[in-house]
Amino acid sequence: MTGHEFRPDVIVEATNACDRVCPGCYAPNVVVEAGAAASAPGAVHLSLERLELAWPSDARIGKVSVRGGEPTLNPEIGAILRSLAERSAAVYLETNGGWIAPRHPLLAVLAELGCVVKVSLDKMHGTKAAEAERILSVLAGAGVKIAVAVTEATREQFESTRARLLAGFDGEVLWQRKAASLDDLVRPAIGVISAAGTLKREVTSMLEGPSLRA
Ligand code: SF4
Repeated sequence: MTGHEFRPDVIVEATNACDRVCPGCYAPNVVVEAGAAASAPGAVHLSLERLELAWPSDARIGKVSVRGGEPTLNPEIGAILRSLAERSAAVYLETNGGWIAPRHPLLAVLAELGCVVKVSLDKMHGTKAAEAERILSVLAGAGVKIAVAVTEATREQFESTRARLLAGFDGEVLWQRKAASLDDLVRPAIGVISAAGTLKREVTSMLEGPSLRA
């Protein structure tokens, strides 16, 4: 499957922290710091308890997207994924992939739960072809389901980046339109659980603020 747009039922913001500084980041209130750790100043991580309290009562929840910031900076990410896997049909972990290395303990959890690692590999994230190949090889070797997100402004740019970075990958590749306005953001069908543990049903609330970073 290639190039289709991604629409989860629920977005779970596992943290507001990120360890990358990407030009054009979709999330204006993310606390970004190159090489940031879980203890970055201003970091807010969603707790398992707050997630379970905020979980929507809607009868059927299909696809859940877990993101940040960089969700793996949340110290409880394994427990959060386990809880979400029990509550929904499919769980996607959206990541910049910087943590992916052989024998990383989270890989075994993801494989066991059947979660999809949706890794961002594109110009905006500064990915080189060799790095994309390494990340995809580690994930495949660990038996983890993989999707690749490519953020570009146009479908032509998406196809060009896909050809440059993902020539040997025949799995799921998703085009994410580079956000230039609120209309370009991914719209969950049900709502967003913020890092602070609040369920918000309006698409703009995921930003906790009105503007997009340049
Ligand atoms: S685009 Fe993703 S990886 Fe890059 S700074 Fe924003 S949250 Fe972090």
